[in-house]
Amino acid sequence: MEDEALELAKKLISRPSVTPDDQGCQEVLASVLRDAGFKCETLCDGGPVTNLLALHGKGRPFLLFLGHTDVVPPGDLRAWPHPPFEPCVFEREGRLVLSGRGSADMKSSDAAMALALADFVKAHPAHKGTLGLLVTSNEEGDSRGGTPWAASVLKERGLIPDCCLVGEPSSLKETGDQVKCGRRGSLSAHITVRGVQGHVAYPERCDNAAHKAAALMHAMAQCKWDQGCENFPPTSFQITSVSCDSGAENLAPGRCEFSCNWRFCPASSPESLKKTVFDLAGSNGCTVEASWHLNGLPFQTSPGFFLGAVCESVREVTGLTPRLSTSGGTSDGRFIAPLGAEVAEFGPSGATIHKAGECVDAAAPQTLRRVYLRIAGKICL
Ligand SMILES: [Zn+2]
Repeated sequence: MEDEALELAKKLISRPSVTPDDQGCQEVLASVLRDAGFKCETLCDGGPVTNLLALHGKGRPFLLFLGHTDVVPPGDLRAWPHPPFEPCVFEREGRLVLSGRGSADMKSSDAAMALALADFVKAHPAHKGTLGLLVTSNEEGDSRGGTPWAASVLKERGLIPDCCLVGEPSSLKETGDQVKCGRRGSLSAHITVRGVQGHVAYPERCDNAAHKAAALMHAMAQCKWDQGCENFPPTSFQITSVSCDSGAENLAPGRCEFSCNWRFCPASSPESLKKTVFDLAGSNGCTVEASWHLNGLPFQTSPGFFLGAVCESVREVTGLTPRLSTSGGTSDGRFIAPLGAEVAEFGPSGATIHKAGECVDAAAPQTLRRVYLRIAGKICL
C-alpha cells in the first residue's frame, strides 16, 4: 500500500496533460474507481474539455472530492533539472521529493483522492450517503466546459453536494500545515480613458489620455478598497497591462487603455469596487468606459462539522494542527460553493506550483490518501 499512491501520481505526471488536454489521465483514475464499484461517467459539453464524474452510494450526506487533471505548460525546458513529464524521485535538501509538472498542482492529490475513495468503498460498501469525485481538464485554462458546466449538470440532476473537498495544494511547507476554508473573489476590468488627440507641440490644443490614465491608475493603486474581514486579508489590486500607442512620437494620444484585477474579500462586492472606480475617475477628471469580468465571488466555509472533520483528519494523520486560510488565487471550489456546499481545500505544499522544477514531498501522495480516507469516514460512516 505504501507506494501505490506515489506510483499512481507518477503515472499521471508522465501524461503531458497541458490544459485543456486530459491525455487519458481521467481514464487512469476511472479504472481505479470502477474496480472499487464506482459508477464513472465522462461529462462533456461537446468541446475539447472532459470531466470525470465518479459516484458511489446514494442520498445524503453527499461528499464530493474535486480535482483537475490539466497542468500549466512547462515553460522553458532548460530551467527544469529533470524533464517535466518524466516524473522522478530524488533527494533534495535531505528529503525525498517527487518532481514533474503537476506533481503539486495537483496530480498527487488526484491519485490520493481516487485511491482513498476506492479504499473506503472496498472497506465500507454499504456506507452512508454518496461519495463522489469530479475531475476536470480545464481548471488552469478558462474553465469553459469544465467545473462550472459540470456543476450545472449536478444541479440539473439534483446531485447537490453537502460537502466538497478540493485537493488543491493548500499547504505551506509541510503537508498538513494549512487548510483553506474559502477563497477571495476575482474581478477583472478593461478600462478605456478618453482625451483629445493632438500635436505634442501644442499641449493647449490636446488633452493627453495617457496623462489622465496615469493619474487614475495611480489613484487606484493607492486606494484602500476595504479593511479586510475575518479570515480574509484586505482586497488587493493590480494593473496587468497598459497601452496607448498613438502611432507617432509627435502625437499626444486621445485614448489610453489598461487592464486590472482585484482579489476581493467579502467586505467588498463587484458593485462597490465598480462604484469606487467611477468615483476615482470623476475626482481625477477622467471620462472612462469599462468592461468587467467577474471570475468568481468570494466564498467561505465557517467552522463547523465539515471543516472540523477535515482539520481533525489532518491532525490524526500528520500530527500537525492546520491553520485556516483564504490566501492565494481562486479555485474551482467557487463553482461548487454556490450550489450550497461547504467547501474546504486540502492538498500538499504549493511552494513550487507553476514553476520550472515543480515538485512535492515524495511522501505527500500517501499522506493525502490517508487524510482523504479519514475525511470520507467522518462524513459517510
Ligand atoms: Zn490546481
